[in-house]
Amino acid sequence: METQPNHPPGPRAEQQPSWPDPSELRSVVDQLATAPPLVFGPECDQLRDRLGEVALGRAFLLQGGDCAETFAGVTADGIRDKLRTLLQMAVVLTYGASVPVVKIGRLAGQFAKPRSSPVESRDGVELPSYRGDAVNGPAFTERDRTPDPRRMRTMYESSAVVLNLVRAFAAGDADLHRAHTWNQGFVADSPGGARYAELAGEIDRALAFMAACGVAPAGVRTTEVFASHEGLLLDYERALARRDPVTGRTYATSGHLLWIGERTRRLDGAHVEFFSRVANPLAVKLGPTTTPDEVLGYAERLDPEREPGRLTFVVRMGARNVRELLPALIEKSLAEGIRVGWVCDPMHGNTFTAPDGRKTRQLAEILDELRGFFEVHRELGTHPGGVHVELTGDDVTECVGGSDEIRTSHLHRRYETACDPRLNRSQSLDLAFLVAEMLRERGAGHGRDITSQHPGRRQG
Ligand code: PEP
Ligand code: MN
Repeated sequence: METQPNHPPGPRAEQQPSWPDPSELRSVVDQLATAPPLVFGPECDQLRDRLGEVALGRAFLLQGGDCAETFAGVTADGIRDKLRTLLQMAVVLTYGASVPVVKIGRLAGQFAKPRSSPVESRDGVELPSYRGDAVNGPAFTERDRTPDPRRMRTMYESSAVVLNLVRAFAAGDADLHRAHTWNQGFVADSPGGARYAELAGEIDRALAFMAACGVAPAGVRTTEVFASHEGLLLDYERALARRDPVTGRTYATSGHLLWIGERTRRLDGAHVEFFSRVANPLAVKLGPTTTPDEVLGYAERLDPEREPGRLTFVVRMGARNVRELLPALIEKSLAEGIRVGWVCDPMHGNTFTAPDGRKTRQLAEILDELRGFFEVHRELGTHPGGVHVELTGDDVTECVGGSDEIRTSHLHRRYETACDPRLNRSQSLDLAFLVAEMLRERGAGHGRDITSQHPGRRQG
């Protein structure tokens, strides 16, 4: 149980650190409250419009990045490779399924983690759990594990650095004419890389064809990548809430989209209460215990205006549950006229412990949850609106399977995550090719509103 002595009275705030020194916390919060915003209201509104297209069935969301960013992981190469992976996946989806793809990184703020237990015990010693670099350090020492509010200041600065790289990259390196170069660094014989190279060749020919015809489509030279993270640390999020001078509305300026996690989504909790008061696009993670009435509750609390794009549901049921549990939630939303984006997080319901004690995930199960998600939407005539994954641009060995055939006995080779196991670049591409196939079968894109979103109407 976590009490929150530092917080003002009000709804219960779950998963907050016990900061040891209230005066230090106050000083950090005061600094953050006068610091410049990291993102601006009109950018958040732009993303809300894009996500409105997802909710209406005309676009697909690709959201991905680390489970937990780390301060040490803020390097130009690391961010570039992560973005390139995201971009390669987006190209596979856009080209493979002819559907506009909204790209959101789990980055520039994804530094805090909820934990299943507030403490960790090793050999009879009990210390606070690691809650992400925003709160404490990962080493199992009293010094590292003691929450330090000054880390929230570092989180702010690191987020600014990452955002700067993302903005520069989106404006420079993300030109579709360079789609080949994003494949660099892949092992030459990687099946995912080879398949991608082939597709990039087709894109080259398509671009050359358009150029020869005198067509210069917008959106080829630069791209839009938005930033998102779990809005977990309320001290941090409250301190960065700002009224935007242009729109006159209050935004959480720590990122474009913030999501409420599976462990903090209580309808009467402090997270739902705080996020109901900011204008950003929001997402809520829905685990297997989610009830249809909760779905309605989130829509009423977080999207009372029923504005497409304001609210996205990220479903993380597990491959074994999704076919059984998801339909009732979608049916409730249809019956109530709720228009939200439905997105599949096929990672968090499929985690298991390998024989060597490492947390891992099987790509086959991840893909099976995605298949189940698509099947449910096909059955109901609704739009499978996107995918939310944990990935990295590095060739890590954290998840099992994929065209590189990583096994549990290989995990030790390159297991670097600060929290949950991520897809490596090749596995990310494997996933993107499968999703593109399913989207194509689904008949998505082509600028049509492909959702019926009316109870009783079925689309085959
Ligand atoms: C996460 O996205 O890393 C996470 C903790 O997810 P969830 O809240 O769905 O468990
Ligand atoms: Mn995670």
